[in-house]
Amino acid sequence: MPASASPATSGRVPTQHDLDTLSRQLNRPVRDVVEIPARCVCGNPLVAATAPRLSNGIPFPTTFYLTHPVITAAASRLEAAGMMNEMSERLAGDADLAAAYQKAHEAYIAARVAIGERAGTGPVPEIDGISAGGMPTRVKCLHVLVGHALAAGPGVNPLGDEVVAALAPWWTADKCYCEGAWDDGAPVPNKDLSRHVKHLNAQAAEPSPLAGPENR
Ligand SMILES: [Zn+2]
Repeated sequence: MPASASPATSGRVPTQHDLDTLSRQLNRPVRDVVEIPARCVCGNPLVAATAPRLSNGIPFPTTFYLTHPVITAAASRLEAAGMMNEMSERLAGDADLAAAYQKAHEAYIAARVAIGERAGTGPVPEIDGISAGGMPTRVKCLHVLVGHALAAGPGVNPLGDEVVAALAPWWTADKCYCEGAWDDGAPVPNKDLSRHVKHLNAQAAEPSPLAGPENR
């Protein structure tokens, strides 16, 4: 396989190693992650794509979730510095920016529909027209914008692209910042498995030690 294989066409479906890495990055078990839309140059996940309907039936609009601890910490610093208010104010006064951000909102929803189709979760009418992060008129979460910008690539979400550029003191796409960012030797977090996941495990061919009395 060529080393330059596009992330859009290879490595999108998460391996068990990817899922374990996500759980370590977030320090909690992940579930319903169906794709890895952005990776570090080393291959580790940067963003997880969650199915638009969780396996417990709940609609889930926040498709792109930023997971890399170095980037999430940097985005939090930018939030603390007031970047969201500054962007929301610019949106209110700049029609071109507002139009581009509206398109980003629509692209987010279209990407979510495509992911739902690939994952086989079916239509999720409960979240029709709803994206995330304050789109299309406000900026309420820089992590959402970065997650979208990294998943979609440059040129789709103008404010997401701006936040990615502003991460530069702490993170840039051309380098690996994974070393020491999470504990690769730690056990994979699995303590707060949902009832549903336990139920699925209980249905597996082998008896699961996680099956509790609440499983019927
Ligand atoms: Zn890396």
